[in-house]
Amino acid sequence: ARVLRRVATPIPAYAMGLVPYVETVHDRLTVEIRRGCTRGCRFCQPGMLTRPARDVEPEAVVDAIETGMRKTGYNEFSLLSLSCSDYLALPAVGVEVKNRLKDENISLSLPSQRVDRFDENIANIIGGTRLTGLTFAPEAGTQRMRDIINKGLTNEELLRGIKTAHEQGWGRVKLYFMIGLPGETDADVLGIAETVRWLRQACTQPGRRPLAFNITISNFTPKPHTPFQWHSVSTEEFRRKQRLLREEFRALRWAKVNFTDVRISAMEDFVGRGDRRLAAVVRRAWELGAGMDSWWESVENAFNAWTQAIDEADLTWKYRKVDQGEWNVMDTDVTDIGGNHPSLDAPLPWDHLDTGIDKAWLKDDLLRALEAATVPDCSFEGCSHCGVCGPDFGHNVVVTPPPIPAFLGHSQPSSERVQRLRVTLGKLGSMALLGHLDLVRLFDRALRRAGLPIAFTGGFHPGPRLSPASALPLGATSSGEVVDFELTRAIAPADFLRQLAAQLPPEIPLYAIAEVPLDGPSATKRLDQAEYYLHVSLEDIDAASPTWDTWVEGVLALDEVLWEKKTKSGKTQLINLRERLHELAAVGPDHPLPVGLEYPKDSHGVWLRAVGHCRNDGNLLRPEHVVSMVEKVANQPLALQHVHRNRLIFL
Ligand code: SF4
Ligand code: SF4
Repeated sequence: ARVLRRVATPIPAYAMGLVPYVETVHDRLTVEIRRGCTRGCRFCQPGMLTRPARDVEPEAVVDAIETGMRKTGYNEFSLLSLSCSDYLALPAVGVEVKNRLKDENISLSLPSQRVDRFDENIANIIGGTRLTGLTFAPEAGTQRMRDIINKGLTNEELLRGIKTAHEQGWGRVKLYFMIGLPGETDADVLGIAETVRWLRQACTQPGRRPLAFNITISNFTPKPHTPFQWHSVSTEEFRRKQRLLREEFRALRWAKVNFTDVRISAMEDFVGRGDRRLAAVVRRAWELGAGMDSWWESVENAFNAWTQAIDEADLTWKYRKVDQGEWNVMDTDVTDIGGNHPSLDAPLPWDHLDTGIDKAWLKDDLLRALEAATVPDCSFEGCSHCGVCGPDFGHNVVVTPPPIPAFLGHSQPSSERVQRLRVTLGKLGSMALLGHLDLVRLFDRALRRAGLPIAFTGGFHPGPRLSPASALPLGATSSGEVVDFELTRAIAPADFLRQLAAQLPPEIPLYAIAEVPLDGPSATKRLDQAEYYLHVSLEDIDAASPTWDTWVEGVLALDEVLWEKKTKSGKTQLINLRERLHELAAVGPDHPLPVGLEYPKDSHGVWLRAVGHCRNDGNLLRPEHVVSMVEKVANQPLALQHVHRNRLIFL
């Protein structure tokens, strides 16, 4: 039985998904512009598995971004493709979107790009007030090596792209390289450092800081369904080549270099080209504690677990290589192979997966690699007959790029302030788990979705002018937060409240709004005290019944409760907590509790109502301070179960 790969058309409108309340990785709108890549890099499995390449119509991309940004409220979007630069409409689409969203403080990020297609237009669309990181993947350090892997990139193209980035304002670029590629010599490995050194020198301009580089060197591990699937790699060789490069980069102190851990590469290689014997090993490795293997703190454990599991299965780390008689295609004279070497014709564990690519083509392409012969990108030049195109998988779809509109320039979002609105709101239920920065981000997105005219701060990182009077501790709920919003255009406060509320979760209720003078002190400056409800209980449930009222009276009778505070400079300072406490009471069942709170069900707990300093100059009484004072009088440990801020009190 054979499993036939299926293909589907990318639909950009599906980009709009759930908008998370907390910051996630890839926290932005992501719109697919092209599926598949036909560049033909011989190490690249996605490039082989996703053929043919299918461009999305430029209008559909622009519409998906414009609608998506307005509906989600994101301030960043990303265009997704295996190789964005091969989407020839990218400059036109990017400039059009940048023009349309010009005043909205939006940035675009692109995944790693083809350095040979990096030009001023691309710089314009990813540049602006917030320069996002720029990543290129030359993959190899010499021309010969880049030809072997069919990267199709010359030194001149590499230099031109990096120079453009430097001229357009980037001070640092990230470059990806690999070691352990088929046919690689030490000269190719050292060529990586040489290339970086040369790029830096060639980009140096008088009066400008030289370009800085972040370099990632990963270890090549061969993947199924690629021309390099027959290649073998060696952990020892990786180690030796890493040593060579570390030595070489020692003289290039301005380059930050990261090497992939060889243990991770060994695990990746072992699993990457496994056969059925792997099942027992995977299970055993998991039983022995493998998992989250590439997390740096887990690597050693995982590697040991895998080593033992492999041993127990009577295999070795190199079991695929052992199967093939320790044979490595690149160690063998090409003429000996002649395309008919038995190892190339032996069945492979993944032969039953029909990707559409002929195995014979993969073999031919490997032989072309041995001669450093390149194959063109079939989206733009000739077809090399890999076998994919036809009724099952369709054909390449390359759209003719529309003309690039005139770039209207980077613009700073408006920082003009016309009106200040002060909103009182709650943070209830699960919203207690939203940190301060996430809350600010949530408001930013809600304001964008509502189309409300928020003003921005100036500078390199403009942010919305919204200021919570005080950050609420994580995990605490509140029914009395206060946030100032500054707008570029006056709006009726009731309309503002209604439009903003419509974009917020129900657990962020808006209670009241007032217009306050723009030139008056901000809520942050006027903040003086806060009223908290603290659910406190005995740590020791076997202790005698608590006498909360007596303990509270005891605290109020004190003149001084000293607390050691660490200052920012690391010094210890003694502060008198009692001075910061204005009111304290145990709340009885006849006293109504703020919304969402319930009376403790057991006799060990109580709600304490505390009013204390809450100034933004650091003079504040925290919930744990209150608990510590009561503990001192009660002479036993107490547990703080929940914090609710009921009210902020202003001067
Ligand atoms: S450009 Fe090369 S490495 Fe990148 S996706 Fe295409 S084939 Fe893979
Ligand atoms: S059949 Fe030809 S055009 Fe189609 S993906 Fe393969 S090489 Fe490209």
